[in-house]
Parts: sequence; C-alpha cells; structure tokens
Amino acid sequence: MVQITFPDNAVKEFDGPPSGLDVAKSISEGFARNCVAMKIDDQLMDLSQIIKKDAAISFVTANDDEGLDILRHSSAHVMAEAVLNLYPEAKLTIGPVVEDGFYYDIDMPPISQDELDKIEIEMKKIVKAKAGFKRTVVSREEALELFKDNPFKVELINELPEDEEISLYQNGQFVDLCRGPHIPHTGMIKGVKLLKISGAYWRADQRREQLQRLYGISFFDKKKLNKYLHMIEEAKKRDHRKLGTRLDLYSFHEEAAGMPFFHAKGIEMWNALLDYWREEHKADGYVETKTPVMLNRKLWEKSGHWENYRENMYTSVIDDEEYAIKPMNCPGGMLLYKTKAYSYKDLPVRAGEIGLVHRHEFSGALSGLFRVRAFHQDDAHIFMTPEQIQEEVLGVLKLNERVYARFGLSFHLELSTRPEKSIGTDAQWEEATNGLRSALEQYGQDYMINEGDGAFYGPKIDIHIKDALGRTWQCGTIQLDMALPERFDLTYKGADNEKHRPIMIHRVVYGSMERFFGILVEHFAGRFPLWLAPVQAILLPINQDLAPYALEVKDLLEAHTIRCEVDQRSETLKKKIREAQLNYIPLIITIGDKEKVEKVLSVRTLDGTVKMGMTHNEFLTTVCKHIKDRILEDIVL
Ligand SMILES: [Zn+2]
Ligand SMILES: [Zn+2]
Repeated sequence: MVQITFPDNAVKEFDGPPSGLDVAKSISEGFARNCVAMKIDDQLMDLSQIIKKDAAISFVTANDDEGLDILRHSSAHVMAEAVLNLYPEAKLTIGPVVEDGFYYDIDMPPISQDELDKIEIEMKKIVKAKAGFKRTVVSREEALELFKDNPFKVELINELPEDEEISLYQNGQFVDLCRGPHIPHTGMIKGVKLLKISGAYWRADQRREQLQRLYGISFFDKKKLNKYLHMIEEAKKRDHRKLGTRLDLYSFHEEAAGMPFFHAKGIEMWNALLDYWREEHKADGYVETKTPVMLNRKLWEKSGHWENYRENMYTSVIDDEEYAIKPMNCPGGMLLYKTKAYSYKDLPVRAGEIGLVHRHEFSGALSGLFRVRAFHQDDAHIFMTPEQIQEEVLGVLKLNERVYARFGLSFHLELSTRPEKSIGTDAQWEEATNGLRSALEQYGQDYMINEGDGAFYGPKIDIHIKDALGRTWQCGTIQLDMALPERFDLTYKGADNEKHRPIMIHRVVYGSMERFFGILVEHFAGRFPLWLAPVQAILLPINQDLAPYALEVKDLLEAHTIRCEVDQRSETLKKKIREAQLNYIPLIITIGDKEKVEKVLSVRTLDGTVKMGMTHNEFLTTVCKHIKDRILEDIVL
C-alpha cells in the first residue's frame, strides 16, 4: 500500500507503488495527458518514476512555466539528436533552457541557415515518433565509458561531486547525460522552430574550443508558436536601432561604443520626456539636483562601490588622485543631504537627479539603446522617518502609474525580500519589508513576491511594464537602503531632539532614459503620440512660390511651441505626403494659393483624413490643447 497526498491534502491509496502517470490517470485521462512532470515531496521528477513509499505529490502541467521549461529542455535533446543524425561527427556539450527558448552548444563546423532548417525538419521526424524519454542511473565508470569519444562530456562527468547520482536519458536511439526531468515523450513538442546560430566558447572561455550555439523555441501548442513567431517578426520591424536611424533620432559610433549620440530630432523627444518628468515630479513635491560625473576614489571607498563594483567603473587621474566616473548617483546624493541639518519636520526630502552614469559592459553585450555603457537615470533619493515609509512608497507607486499610463503601458509589481547575504538587523529588515508590503496592500494591485531576491542593503519593489507587443521590461524600481545612510552617517533631529538615522529609498521611473527611449520607439513602432513626436507638423507648399509663405506659417506654429518643418524640395506633393506619412508626422499641412489668400490650413492627420479650411486660431487651439494635455490617442480635427 502506498499513500499519496495531493496538494489539497486529499489522500489516495494505491495497492502497489504507482508511477506518477498512474497517479495522474487516477484523477482523469485528460488531466494525465496534460501532465509534464511531478514533484514528490517537492523534488522535481519524471512522471514515469515509481513512487515507492508514501509521499506528497503535485503535478507540473503544460500550463505551468515550469512545464514549459521542461518541454524546452527536452526540445534541446531532440535538437541534439537531430544534429547527430545529420552530422555524426558533431560533439555535444551542454543544452540549457534560456528565457526565450533553449540552445545547445555543439562542437561542429559552422552551419548555414539552410542547414539549420534541415535540422528542424529532422527534429519534426523525431517529434512525430513520440519517443518516450527513458531514465537510467549509471556508475561513473559506465558514464565515462559511454561518452569516451566526447571530451566535453568526460570533463562534465569528472566534475560531478563524488556522491552525485549520474543519470542518462534515452529517447529513440539517442542517449544524453542529464539530470532531467523530461516530458513523457517527444510528441508533446507540438510547435518547434530553430531560430539562429551563433558562435560560443566552451565554458565561455576564449582560450577553449569554439562551438556552435543553436537556438530554438518550442511550445505545447502550435498556435502559441505562431503567435510567438509573429511577435518576433513584428519586433524586427520595430527594431529601435533601425527605426531610430530611419527617423533620424540617434546613432552609434565606434568612437564611443555603447554611448549613444542623439540627433536634433531625438533631443526634441528627449526634452519632451524630461519636461513631462519634471512636471510630474514637481507636482509630487520633488526638488531637482545635480551632482558631478567624476568623484574622488575616497568617496567610492566610503560608499562601498570601490570594493563591490570596481570592475564596472571607469577611472581617471586628476592631480595625482584617482577618480571614478559615477556608475550611480547615490554617493553624490549623500553628500548633498549632508550639506544641511535636517529636522524631522523637513522630512521627507525628495531629491531627484537626471544623472549621467557610466557602467562598463562587455562590447559583445552592447545592444542599441537597450544595453549601453553611458546612460541617464531618472533617479531620486527620498529621505524619511520610519513612519513615512508606507506613504512615501505609495506615492512613488502612484507616480509610476501616472507616468506609464501616459504612454499606454500597463505594469506588474514584484516585491523582493531579504537575501541570504545582507546587512542590517532582523528588526530593520522587518520594518523595511513591512513598509513596502503595506504600501503594496494599500495600493491594491496584485504583486508577486521574490523571496530572497532583494539587494543586500534592503528590500525592493520592481515595476515591470508591458509594451504593445506584450513584452515586459523592468523599468521602475523602489529600493529601500539601510547601508548608505549608515556609511555616510546621515542624521536628522527627531521630535525628541536626538539624532536619528533617516530611512532612504532609491527610485527610478523611466529607469535608464536611453533604454526607456528605445522601448518607446518599439512600443509605438515610431508612430509617437503628438506630444512626443519629434516633428509634430510638416508644411508642404504646393509650389516654390508658396515657400516663403509656408515659412511664415512655420514661424507662427513655432511661436506656439509646435515642432515644425517645411518641405521645400521640388518633389511632387504626392511624394512629399507619402514621405511625411512614412515618418509618422502627425500633422501634414498642404499650403496652396487658397490657403494663403484665405489664411486657412488644410491638415492631413495620420489616419489619412483631411480637414480643409481650418482657421489658424482654430488649428492652434485644438493642437496646442492636445499637446499640452499629452493625449495618447491620435488627434481628431
Ligand atoms: Zn535533459
Ligand atoms: Zn541611488
């Protein structure tokens, strides 16, 4: 008799030791078909394993993230098998799951896209065979014998701890060294696509063998694969590196790798973002400050960055003293706080700073505006009494919500709690974490908890936005800091006339301005709302004689702070309109004789509709209001 306890505490008895699949089938055949793996007393296992003694069971199904990871890891096995079928000389190394799919690093000659397609076709044959994944346990000697022709696997086996159980997985004729678990059979891989090939070094070590990294993605459902591939296609079209070049917003130069150059049009948008940021922050009682980009090494030693973050910092020497370019604004912010003697009545202090920071990234990791070496953080440090934590955090959450809504971005929240390595007392952590938690409760939106994922100096709330393609990006963060106020000996005078340590938070809304900019370019696919558009209106005189008048109208619009251009080229009107539309200019204004004589405007909006005969006043009133209110939706005239 074996007693199995289910997650709802129901207990079922089996006459003999059942497999996980038997237990799943005892619920229903349909449920069993959807099961991927199981957890026996919280340990993840194959569904085929026999449960020999009484245990608690829970199932991992095709609907769980964990299930999807198991499917993708199993897909890596299938891909490796397909590669060996076609290239028997290839040597396998490792094949893990990554955030967006799986890969396998393989020692083989470089292959083309065509060859990758052939591997995918071979994989589909294996999937069709619905081969079961069979697990066997072997001794170290047996494993070494089996993989004696593969030096990578031999290296891996030799590194396994003495007492580690060594398991093999076989599907069809293919055997791989693996800890598991796997899906019951290859037929569960309903949608699979191989995406790309890139080079990789064994053990990420440039001195070791160069391998081919084959990337793929798979799903339990063909429809989900198609949806994903559509999203990838759409993302390619929206790639901010290409769109940014086409729209003349920014560029990248090898003279300063990872440090974007913003063009005049890009700066118009940048300033629109900043103006908006300043308005929201002023309304919430923030002041704006500015601290230097380079600071003496002694400061970085005091803040702990020199010890913990040195390899990401750029340095220089001034008057024989070592300086570092700031990777964060905080230490400068500490010095600012210390210039005044604060009383509890002055708190909270909310000090913002659009700070330019530099952090070293490997050149291979750089990617457009998303991964850079120099960027601006829309930082702020809030100094407060312990009693103010909840209200301050709530205020920051609401500020984030307002800002993201302005761009049509929804978001979700994650609370990260005390990690194993941390400073501060239990009481401090409890107070800090409870402050964040109660702010989240009061805010009322569901949030996830990442146990142990906080910074060593305090718990934090991360805010992940969701863009138009459904991709999520962590932008905002609210971090409580118990280290820096201590290190810099920050104090305020309490009601008791004694000195107290303020509680401090670091927070950003955009995060990295550059990255947020890139996200917006892709989110809007270059078709920005009117208030943000780099060029808001373009004037198209229908002949050269009307050009001087068009320039007069431009002056008028610019006097009302509308960002405006005149297209004076001797192209056809049709072509000019087409180009303006391709550049997503929200207001396309044609100037003919009638417009000049009657002092009216004919305006084409992005939906293609044309409003004729608008008086200048009528136009300016409607457009300026739309811009001032920063309306997300297209303007209707
Ligand atoms: Zn495996
Ligand atoms: Zn900070």
